[in-house]
Amino acid sequence: MRTSLQLVRIMGIPVKLHVTFLMVLPLFAWLFAQQPRPFGFVEIKDAFLRYSVATVATILLFTSVLLHELSHSAVAMRYGTKINSIVLFIFGGIAMMEEIPKEPKQEARIAFAGPAASFAIGGVCLALYYLTDISIYLPLELLVLNVGYLNVALAAFNLIPAFPMDGGRILRATLARKYSFLAATKKAAFIGKAFAIAMALVGILNPWLILIAFIIYVGASEEETATLIHAALEGLKVKHVMSGEVLEAVPPELSLTELVDLMFWGRRLGYLVADESGVCGFVSFADVSRVPVDRRPLLKVRDVMTPLPRISEDEDAINALREMLRHHTNRLAVFGEDGFKGIIKKADILKFVELASAAASSRSKGGSNGV
Ligand SMILES: [Zn+2]
Repeated sequence: MRTSLQLVRIMGIPVKLHVTFLMVLPLFAWLFAQQPRPFGFVEIKDAFLRYSVATVATILLFTSVLLHELSHSAVAMRYGTKINSIVLFIFGGIAMMEEIPKEPKQEARIAFAGPAASFAIGGVCLALYYLTDISIYLPLELLVLNVGYLNVALAAFNLIPAFPMDGGRILRATLARKYSFLAATKKAAFIGKAFAIAMALVGILNPWLILIAFIIYVGASEEETATLIHAALEGLKVKHVMSGEVLEAVPPELSLTELVDLMFWGRRLGYLVADESGVCGFVSFADVSRVPVDRRPLLKVRDVMTPLPRISEDEDAINALREMLRHHTNRLAVFGEDGFKGIIKKADILKFVELASAAASSRSKGGSNGV
C-alpha cells in the first residue's frame, strides 16, 4: 500500500507527505481556529479571518518542519550521505538517509543541524514580534508569534535525549567519544527508555504524553536493534552468511499435485524453481497449502511461487537484508561470477546477528569484571 504522496524535490531530495500528515493538517488548522487567543496576547473576533490565519499558520508549521529536515539533510550531504527522501508525518518529519556516518563529530553535527535551524527560525520570528512594530497588522502579528513559538517548541522537543529524537543522536555521539559505537548506542538507548518510562509516569493522565513516551520507547529499542545488526554484519559479505543448504529445483510448469507428491516422497518442504534461463523463484509447502485441494491439479508451480530477487555473493551482508525488505521477501538468489551459488535467507542472517551479539556481550561482561 502506498502511504505517502510525493510533493516536490528540493536540493534533489524527494519531499513526501505521509497519509497521517494529510489527516493532521485540517485538524491542526481547526484547533488553531478554535482558540481566539492562541497565546493570550491578541484576539481575532472575525471567524473567517481566524480560520484563514489558522490555515496559513498550519502551512507555515509544515514548512518549518520541512526546513528542520532540510537542515539535517544539507549537513549530512556535506559528509557524503545520500538522502533518499524526506517524509512528513503526524509527529513531524524524517529524512531517510542511506548511511549515517559513525564518526561521532559528524553524527552530532547532522543531528544538531535540525534543532539549530528551528531555533534560528523561531528566534527571528520572536525578535520580529518583540522588537519591531509588527502589531499594526493583527493577522501578521499572530502568524509571526505562532510560528516563532512553534519553532522554539520544535527545537526543544527534538533535543529530548532519546531516540528517535535528535537529542538521542547527540547523546550517542557524545558517549561514542568514550565508548565503542555499539556500547554508546546501548547506553543511549537505555537512557532513552528510562526517559520514556519517566515521561509516561509523569504524564499518566495525559494521553499525548503517554503516546509520545511510547514512541520514544519503541524508537530507542529499534535503534538499538538496527545498530546491533549493523555491528554484527560489519565487513561480512553475502557469501559468508548464506546457508550452505543445497536445494533441488523444479520446473515452473510442474502441477501443484505433482509438487505435493514430490515434497512427500522427497521429504522436502521447499524447492527452487528454475527454467531454461536459470533459477527464477522459490516454492514452499506454505505456498501450496493456501490453494484448496480441488484447485491444485489446475494450477502450476509458477502460479504460486515466490520470485527470488538476485544478489551478488560479494555484496555486503547488510545489503541482503535491505534487498529483502525492499522486495518484501525472506529469500534471495545468490549469484557469483560463474552463476547460481545458492540462496540467502533472512533467518540465516538473524541467527548470525544473534550469535555475534551474544559473543560481544559476553566479551564486554568479561571485560568489566576485569577477567
Ligand atoms: Zn530533527
